[in-house]
Amino acid sequence: MGGMKLECPECKRPIANRRIETCMYCEAKIPKELLFTKEETEKLDSVLEKDKERHKAFMRRSSNNSNGGGFIDGFGGGDFGGFDGGGDI
Ligand SMILES: [Zn+2]
Repeated sequence: MGGMKLECPECKRPIANRRIETCMYCEAKIPKELLFTKEETEKLDSVLEKDKERHKAFMRRSSNNSNGGGFIDGFGGGDFGGFDGGGDI
């Protein structure tokens, strides 16, 4: 397509994080065209957010599942459920 390379114009290393507008290696300014647009960033964030929600829901469901059967043995055993109890990540 466009043939736009996602690399730093200065050091030619791949751009690791397209949300950050400076190169993490040489701190050169990354051209805007190579960065995520605001829209893309928001889209990504909402995907991540949904993913987190899904994960939480899954954890909640599995720790509420007190009939004990079916799920992976020892996995729903409670101390895994404490994983997201630690506060907001
Ligand atoms: Zn660089």
